[in-house]
Amino acid sequence: MGCAAALDDGSIAALPSVHAVVANAEPAEVLRAAGVEVRALHAAPRPAGTKSRALLKIQDGCDEHCTFCATTLARGANRSRPVDDLIEEARALAEHHAEIVLTGVHIGTYGREARTPSLGELLESLIAAVPSVRFRLSSVEATEVDDTLAGLLIEAPRHLAAHLHAPLQSGSNRVLKRMGRHWYTAESYQARIEWLAERLPILGLGADVIAGFPGETDEDHSASIALLRALPFTYLHVFPFSVRPDAAAARLPGQLPPVVIRDRARELRELGQAKAAEYRAHRRGQTADGVVSGRQQGRLEVMTEDYLSVYLDTDQWDGRPRFEVTVN
Ligand code: SF4
Repeated sequence: MGCAAALDDGSIAALPSVHAVVANAEPAEVLRAAGVEVRALHAAPRPAGTKSRALLKIQDGCDEHCTFCATTLARGANRSRPVDDLIEEARALAEHHAEIVLTGVHIGTYGREARTPSLGELLESLIAAVPSVRFRLSSVEATEVDDTLAGLLIEAPRHLAAHLHAPLQSGSNRVLKRMGRHWYTAESYQARIEWLAERLPILGLGADVIAGFPGETDEDHSASIALLRALPFTYLHVFPFSVRPDAAAARLPGQLPPVVIRDRARELRELGQAKAAEYRAHRRGQTADGVVSGRQQGRLEVMTEDYLSVYLDTDQWDGRPRFEVTVN
């Protein structure tokens, strides 16, 4: 399943050990392919445990054509799920989960294809219908955080986690253009993030960044470093550029030597680690809204609203899925 399956021309399906190829990750389709009878999947009882976070897929596909991405080919155009279906599924998930993460391929475009409610309006409906859980956005473009969404982030911290993962990819407008990222510039990204950060004293802020995109010069890389330094990121996801045969960037001139890509990625990662350590030190000793997210090496892992993991001894836990925690 996943993008490779969606792009399969029959060669994966023809492999002797392959039972079925599922073009996306819909749980019901995966179960059907495995021969499992599927009834009301989202209402299925969930065994007790320490995972209190659930995923709610609100849309699939993307209408953009970033030159490094094969998703549009694999997943097709933007398709948003109806609000009523999502409310019903969120209600069922809330019976067993304290946090619901809204996921999709390009969630900032939710509703755009059908002129139905926007992502912010969807969240207003979800919060009104399921006020007991904390919602979280998986990844959303900075310039697609509209005023409704911003208002919820600022005014409803119990209902919408103060966390944005806003893909940047590059801090150079020249590179953004080559990437096909036409809907923002380094300046518009910076302006939106600064506006939000000024109003959100606690904010988990992450970004995806690509190191060594074809044609990226030393100046372009320096522009990325400067922008990343200037904004209050609390972590970074750094991707050294690698060729995907189905993506247009594979055919762009100016492919960089692997050593340059590796060195730039290392510099970006070091910056991300320094920023994460700085934010953690700032938060240490402060209280946070924690939701149990699992176990790590015998300890309880708790996720804060601003996307920090806090680890507790299990004997410190009274069994509640959501509670106030001190960042350690
Ligand atoms: S990177 Fe994101 S916005 Fe760009 S085409 Fe892929 S899914 Fe769409």
